[in-house]
Amino acid sequence: MKSVLRTLSVAPLIAMLGAAPSAQAPTEPALFIHAGALLDRPGQPPRGPSTIVVRGGRIEAVRDGFVAPAEGARLIDLKSQLVLPGLIDAHVHIFSDDDKVRARAEALNRDIEDILLIGVDNARRTLEAGFTTVRDLGSDIHSVTALRDGVAAGLVAGPTIVAAGTAISGQGGHADPANNVNRDIETLRRAHATNTCSGADDCRRAVRLQISQGADVIKFTATGGVLSNIAGGLGQQLFDDEMKAIVDTAHLFGRKVAAHAHGKDGIAAALRAGVDSIEHATYTDAETNALFKRSNAWLVPTMVAPHAAVAQARAGARSKATLAKAEETIAVHNDNIGKAIKDGVRIAFGTDSGVSDHGKNAAEFALLVKAGMTPAGAIRAATVDAATLLERASQIGSIEPGKQADIIAVATSPLDDVAVLEKVRFVMRQGVVHVLDAARQPFPPR
Ligand SMILES: [Zn+2]
Repeated sequence: MKSVLRTLSVAPLIAMLGAAPSAQAPTEPALFIHAGALLDRPGQPPRGPSTIVVRGGRIEAVRDGFVAPAEGARLIDLKSQLVLPGLIDAHVHIFSDDDKVRARAEALNRDIEDILLIGVDNARRTLEAGFTTVRDLGSDIHSVTALRDGVAAGLVAGPTIVAAGTAISGQGGHADPANNVNRDIETLRRAHATNTCSGADDCRRAVRLQISQGADVIKFTATGGVLSNIAGGLGQQLFDDEMKAIVDTAHLFGRKVAAHAHGKDGIAAALRAGVDSIEHATYTDAETNALFKRSNAWLVPTMVAPHAAVAQARAGARSKATLAKAEETIAVHNDNIGKAIKDGVRIAFGTDSGVSDHGKNAAEFALLVKAGMTPAGAIRAATVDAATLLERASQIGSIEPGKQADIIAVATSPLDDVAVLEKVRFVMRQGVVHVLDAARQPFPPR
């Protein structure tokens, strides 16, 4: 099913069914949304009372004032709320369990189907929190493409997913699944690991493999990581030629590349290799900030992740190696991201949810503002800017005619206090209402 969904564009599919898209659209009833205030294009000032007309899952028109609904049209009254585009999280791990203690205890009992169901639940929670699109930067490629395509087909409720599959890593690097496990499990995992590579040619192979299984974007780990169970530090873990081979292969196939990087050496090497975004960027400084600007790459700070990791490690749910690294990163991350913001590095919103809790993605907003972003800038990072990073700016990120009807609402202006985004009261994705008056709606069949 997946290959059919991917290779058929919508137009020929509709032609096969014998109806032209233009002939079909007007028969769908319109939906009118009355918005008390409308932040239709984050980064620009909000509009006053407005009406959004939605039809066929898309935004048909945006008008000033409360326009009476056309005959037969439904009305959604959000007159007491501020309406804005659905939020975008550019860094999640949708299959990672929030409950680390339980996950460790059950690790040997869980099968891929158990993890798949955890992902389905995480996807629903993420959507109900107002995040209508996510970029998954590290999941089993078969699971994440199944969930991505299932959401797209309307089988399950979740955000639109842009999927990287499994992150490419050097052997012994941050995303090597066989780090520090017992001999039996190591043998099994080595036999199945398709994401580790050594040498430029081997890294090209690893990228091609993720793409061949449906990856929309490529993720690799340029440096050590906080959560890997090796005391390997946070410095560079792939050679320059390996990073270049990964980036060039992904770009050859028209895929963007996200690099996990904490240490300055790894951030610089990944930027020189031509990556499109750096994730975390804990030790970025004036020199790497200048490199960011020269290469026009995005920085995805994931500020909630070290907070969550420290709390879990202190509670004994993470390894000792992790606790030491988490304490180290949390001490510097806020200041370094603050300097990057000041230096004018382009910031896109991402949380690393899966480390922190799914559905609490919006906690990142307050941390971005604490680091020095304006509320308007932080909201823009999670809408217009994240849409640009995901190459979906023509479809999502703002409320404009022709775009997908991904729309949320909050009780007060997030431009005064971004924390209100942690309490989203209305969620619509592609014209389907999932949350109304802060209450969950039964997921409608299609
Ligand atoms: Zn991550």
